[in-house]
Amino acid sequence: MDTGGLGGHPRGLTTLFFTEMWERFSYYGMRALLILFMVKTAADGGLGYDTKKAAAIYGTYTMSVYLLSILGGFIADNFIGARRAVLVGGIIIATGHFTMAINSEVTFFAGLVLIAMGTGLLKPNISTMVGSLYTPADDRRDAGFSIFYMGINLGAFVSPLVTGWLAQSAGWKSLLSGWGLNPLHSWHWGFAAAGVGMTLGLIVYVLQRERLAHVGNAPAPEADGSRPWGRLGVVALGSLILIAAMKACDTYPALVYVLFALQIAAILFFAFKPDPDSKRIAAILVFFFAAEIFWAIFEQTGSTISLFADELTRNEFLGYSFPSSWWQSVNSVWVILLAPIFAWLWIRLGARQPSSPAKFALGLLFVALSFVLMVPAAKLTAEGKVGPMWLVGLFFLQTVGEMLLSPVGLSTMTKLAPQRLLGLVMGIWFLAAALGNKLAGVLAGEFRSENAGDLATFFWHQALAVGACTLVLFALVPWVKKLMGGVR
Ligand code: GLN
Repeated sequence: MDTGGLGGHPRGLTTLFFTEMWERFSYYGMRALLILFMVKTAADGGLGYDTKKAAAIYGTYTMSVYLLSILGGFIADNFIGARRAVLVGGIIIATGHFTMAINSEVTFFAGLVLIAMGTGLLKPNISTMVGSLYTPADDRRDAGFSIFYMGINLGAFVSPLVTGWLAQSAGWKSLLSGWGLNPLHSWHWGFAAAGVGMTLGLIVYVLQRERLAHVGNAPAPEADGSRPWGRLGVVALGSLILIAAMKACDTYPALVYVLFALQIAAILFFAFKPDPDSKRIAAILVFFFAAEIFWAIFEQTGSTISLFADELTRNEFLGYSFPSSWWQSVNSVWVILLAPIFAWLWIRLGARQPSSPAKFALGLLFVALSFVLMVPAAKLTAEGKVGPMWLVGLFFLQTVGEMLLSPVGLSTMTKLAPQRLLGLVMGIWFLAAALGNKLAGVLAGEFRSENAGDLATFFWHQALAVGACTLVLFALVPWVKKLMGGVR
């Protein structure tokens, strides 16, 4: 057993930690600029889109990034293996960022498409490689994913500060002018910085490749030496159709119920088949459903919570005021503080830790509680802006929930997936995030800040709905454990 890495974990974990840290640095650094760059006028160096158009592009982009994980996972499983998929994905992502460093609309969109495709290749496969570092019975696995998750959030925390400073600060603009460069192009310096982050990640990955030489190998071709090109076409086409179908939810919100009904039908279909693989797929789909509900609340950080922060909160700390956008980093700060505690807790509890479905139910409970906390906060807005501690509390509760669900979900997928479908199953896990992001957008559309009573009801209804899902999931824990067939 390799215990030579971070905290007694395999040495490959450190490599994946830093590669993913830089990849997330790029992703979140760019994401922080995206909407702003689109809505700023040409006089400010932006594209001058209206908010509606910018929000639609933003939503489609963030959904596609996660949705293309299915394709990326399939390519790794059937063609090139996870290890090479991460390398190729990283190169495509860096190319995308550098493309966006050029000031034109065509390069902007080309860059977004490249980043979405590259992330689809990298994100699910780097996650499965973390799992491959451990044997199925290794109790360090959930702890390993908690540490990996910390890398994600180190990148996510620092990058908006760096890219935001390059893109928006007066200081950097005057430096550019001083060098004889156009200060309006500051945005593109932000995009390029994201590309530099990804490049650094790739350098770490290549230099330390021998630590990962035993995981993520390419699969052997079929007996006749061929590869499943036909099925690749089907998966690619299916992904495009799914993106289009999800976009249709904007026009026909009732489609969301069809989506739920389909998921429940799929769970029952697989659960009542006799073979163990089908039962495990049913368990994966239960986790999928729970994760989708979780992200639908959690991903309102960029919408509902950002509006609450901007319009209804006194953004002051120890007498200093700060921009409302800084709230976007608070979740990452909590993850960095809490991840070591959870990693320690899972190691400490060892075989006595709660089962993964129980951890998921607890995750849902905490995200529901975060919106319960917002009910009195919303009521208090009748008397004016509220203090910052409400949002600090909200992010604390959400992050506890996230630590119980998200790294645990990554870990559970790597345990439940049949070896030859590892990448695909991880892609399905990220599909839950894609759908959750979309649902979050639909829910946030109901946010109104004018009436405190209505706002309290807005939070309360969502808390109740998620609370009900939590109870159902708790009740299902024994059944899901049975479906998992011995996997914890
Ligand atoms: N914040 C995490 C990340 O960036 C989780 C994303 C997700 O699965 N929705 O990896």
